[in-house]
Amino acid sequence: MTYQTIRGFRDILPPQSDAFSFIEKISREIFTLYGYREIRIPAVEYFELFIKSTGETTDIVQKEMYRFKDASGRDLALRPEGTPGVARAYINNNLSQTGLNGKYFYIADMFRAERPQAGRYRQFEQIGAENIGASSPYSDAESAAMLAEIFKRLGAENLRLEINSLGCPSCRPKYREKLISYLSSQKDLCSSCLQRLEKNPLRVLDCKIDGPKLTDFPSIELCGDCAVHHEKFKKCLSLSKVDFFENPKLVRGLDYYQRTVFELKTSSLGAQDAVAGGGRYDGLIKDMGGPASPAVGWALGADRAAMIIEKRWGEFEKKSNVFLVSADKERGDYCFSLAQFLRSENISCDFSDFSLSFKSQMRSADKSGALFAAIAGEDEEKNGEVSLKNLFSKEQKKVKKEELTEIIKRSL
Ligand SMILES: [Zn+2]
Ligand SMILES: [Zn+2]
Repeated sequence: MTYQTIRGFRDILPPQSDAFSFIEKISREIFTLYGYREIRIPAVEYFELFIKSTGETTDIVQKEMYRFKDASGRDLALRPEGTPGVARAYINNNLSQTGLNGKYFYIADMFRAERPQAGRYRQFEQIGAENIGASSPYSDAESAAMLAEIFKRLGAENLRLEINSLGCPSCRPKYREKLISYLSSQKDLCSSCLQRLEKNPLRVLDCKIDGPKLTDFPSIELCGDCAVHHEKFKKCLSLSKVDFFENPKLVRGLDYYQRTVFELKTSSLGAQDAVAGGGRYDGLIKDMGGPASPAVGWALGADRAAMIIEKRWGEFEKKSNVFLVSADKERGDYCFSLAQFLRSENISCDFSDFSLSFKSQMRSADKSGALFAAIAGEDEEKNGEVSLKNLFSKEQKKVKKEELTEIIKRSL
């Protein structure tokens, strides 16, 4: 019998795994530029945390949670997104009291029991950034510009940031009323929208099911503070040279957003699909029992980011620089010592099996993508040398062990 992966789960193999590492590396570099530090949060939390934060009416909580009871009957869930865990950690660890900024990033796998479909997995990596304790629109612009910068460095084309303001507890209720009465007059709302209508009318605006074309829906009238905030946000995006467009239908699928929301789109994936999104969640930390802490953040899906650079995956594949080949069986120890010597000099190397034929070892060397084969026979060992063959130019010459490091490093 053989074992299979569970439906909706997959193995990530080279060179895709190398592409993921590359995206993580770029992200870490940008996070450092922006003063963000890493936080690592548990994969398992109490289910209740997600009801409170992600929101009871969201698709994630209603349909997509990996919820289970452990042996002692606790109601638990695998994290479907990063923000709730980071918010909980911020509160539990009194991070508002550290005197440091509240800027944290995470690189972590999330779990959602979505219907498996092409390119969608039930375990997937998200890279996210949260700035907790930051109320100013500079922080919104900083956060969004940082996100755009990551995709710019990945080579994403025609980056476009769509933005909207969802208002605050003082201007949103009026909008909600107007929206409910407008939506109630619409025919053909899908069944989940009819359910959402009273509880979360904003969500109806971004219904993915074909329904009525909601064109002349009422737009939000921002209160003075929200309007000032939004204008400043836009000005700072311009200062950051980030292209943005106002999209009044952009609401994001989570309950906790207030004021600023944004989504990043690129033409690199064909359809103008969002590759990342985020926004401001000023009420969340307090709602969860923490100190009043305004916050802004986003998350990107590593799978979509990897698709953007799919043509370049080969470039990211980690290959050894040198492949050791023994001309005969007796040269195994010598070749193995050479390999360990090169590694101690920070030159990556590999070998197959020194007891195999020379021909077979050379075949592996060619396949490995290494720049050099380092071949040793009886003569080479006697003289403390190695025959260094450039596997691309086919040039070959004998080199003293002492000169090996320098010659190889010069060619890399
Ligand atoms: Zn407001
Ligand atoms: Zn709908």
